[in-house]
Amino acid sequence: MREEETGEVYFANSLDEAISILSDRERSLVPIAGGTWLMRSEKRKEALAPGFLALSNVSELRGFHMESNQISIGALTTHHDLGVALEGSPELFGLADAARISATPGVRRLATVGGNICTDGFHSPDIATALLALDAQVEVAGASGTSSLPLSEYLNSRKERPLDEILVRVMLPRMAGATSHVRLTMKSSGDYPVAIVSVGAVISSTSVLTDLRVAIGSVEETPRRWTALEDALEGQVFRPEECKSQARDLSVDFNGRDAVDAPGSYRVSVLPHLVQSALASIFNQKRGG
Ligand SMILES: Cc1cc2nc3c(=O)[nH]c(=O)nc-3n(C[C@H](O)[C@H](O)[C@H](O)COP(=O)(O)OP(=O)(O)OC[C@H]3O[C@@H](n4cnc5c(N)ncnc54)[C@H](O)[C@@H]3O)c2cc1C
Repeated sequence: MREEETGEVYFANSLDEAISILSDRERSLVPIAGGTWLMRSEKRKEALAPGFLALSNVSELRGFHMESNQISIGALTTHHDLGVALEGSPELFGLADAARISATPGVRRLATVGGNICTDGFHSPDIATALLALDAQVEVAGASGTSSLPLSEYLNSRKERPLDEILVRVMLPRMAGATSHVRLTMKSSGDYPVAIVSVGAVISSTSVLTDLRVAIGSVEETPRRWTALEDALEGQVFRPEECKSQARDLSVDFNGRDAVDAPGSYRVSVLPHLVQSALASIFNQKRGG
């Protein structure tokens, strides 16, 4: 470990070292990756941690590997680099879009996949929502060892995760079909989305939807899959207005989050339209449109 001159930020040079430093609770250091969430702590009226453990030198958290049955994305992969790495993978268009349109160009070059997933209290993570629609698993490492768990489980337990735990990488099974990611913002670039819909599905030559996955972000406290809608549309012929109508009927499933940018009821009310757009997008990809 090397102490920087500021005295406030420490750099770990390996995963083991990072875990060992975080396990020392007297130091109370908090991991920092791109810093784009943490740098706005003051704006959110949150106290800054007494010190930070920079992960940027931890090589185990880097890398992007596409294999025949799985894709592995290192936690330090930036939004920008993820967008570039996914060029030429049409079945991952949704995730690539989430990486390419979230935040601003400058933020995207710093912000990491790990930070997007690990930020407790962040309701609108584009990348985590897109990864939910891809059945992602996460690998975490801490003093008690390394383990993998579904991303959905990780997101629901962010408040209780061990303080010495580091997210190492995200694993995605290779899936057939197409994906898309749509979001509604109130203004323009740099705005957090009011609602996010990320979908994946196989559409047959007769327009039947199968293996449908619908993930919703920003509407409730934590992004999640909309399983009731997935079940309702599975095996149905894709008809945009009917999909929208079913989404409208099932949107009672959501308890929208009130915040300064939009009331909860508004977030829920835009979901049927966003679902229709997201499904239309994958239908158009299939037609080469
Ligand atoms: C102007 C602006 C616009 C933005 N717009 C968007 C947007 O449109 N969509 C969007 O999704 N996000 C947006 N963000 C939010 C944020 O930048 C992203 O969520 C980003 O992915 C956070 O990554 P980071 O590496 O900067 O996280 P950091 O700030 O470094 O860390 C965030 C949290 O994650 C923890 N952490 C980071 N990495 C790890 C790890 N490997 N293991 C364990 N804990 C870890 C840190 O301890 C901290 O609690 C925006 C931010 C800004 C400043």
